[in-house]
Amino acid sequence: MSLLMMKLLLLFVLIYMIIPYVITRILGIGVAIRGRTGRQIALTFDDGPHPLYTPRLLDLLKRKGIKATFFVLGSKAEQHPELTRRIYMEGHQIGIHNYTHLPNWLMSPRRIREKHVHRTADIVERITGERPTFYRPPWGILNVGDLFTLRKTYRIMLWSVMGRDWGKERKSKPLKERILSQLEPGSIILLHDSGDTWGAVPDAPGRMIASLEEVLEDVRVQGYKCVRADELLENAHGARSELSDGLPVG
Ligand SMILES: [Zn+2]
Repeated sequence: MSLLMMKLLLLFVLIYMIIPYVITRILGIGVAIRGRTGRQIALTFDDGPHPLYTPRLLDLLKRKGIKATFFVLGSKAEQHPELTRRIYMEGHQIGIHNYTHLPNWLMSPRRIREKHVHRTADIVERITGERPTFYRPPWGILNVGDLFTLRKTYRIMLWSVMGRDWGKERKSKPLKERILSQLEPGSIILLHDSGDTWGAVPDAPGRMIASLEEVLEDVRVQGYKCVRADELLENAHGARSELSDGLPVG
């Protein structure tokens, strides 16, 4: 590879991947990473629905009277329409997490919009009758084009608290400690109801659900209310515009 080619490649990586990463993941501009309201937090579950774990999670949430947000993969929603309908019927919010778990850095903005985001929105709408309006990219990774092509139609949501619930036996802090130590008003917590994704352990959601029961108890004692992500942002007066206005909607 010539030096010029190398420089062009590095420039592409910088503009297409690194700059949007810094803008969204680190600075939180153009995306929602937390609400700005009273003692409310949002639980979000990615990568499902899963035929074993999602029903168990839904049972727990129902027992605790809690509403959450599920960022589903279109391919899995398509495979499990009854489960997807159950999530919806039980009052939870459904968001989009691509059709399959492919990173946006490896695809063009057009492909992502049409083959992943719109496609998944179509699938969810066909099943539930309601079109999702929230989107979370796999691994929270956006390319520069996504910031212009998706924000017209969808609210892009990342997170402020990462549960790191996908791995093997907890090496460092237990999930409960990890969540509670980072919790603050407006927190958006990232968890997973499927362990089928590359890099995850298949039975990890079982351990997450077991710990979550305790987490929810502590959260309640601390006076926090768990709400859907759309409610969290809605209730944050002015937060929507404050969070969105950093970037033009193209
Ligand atoms: Zn994911």
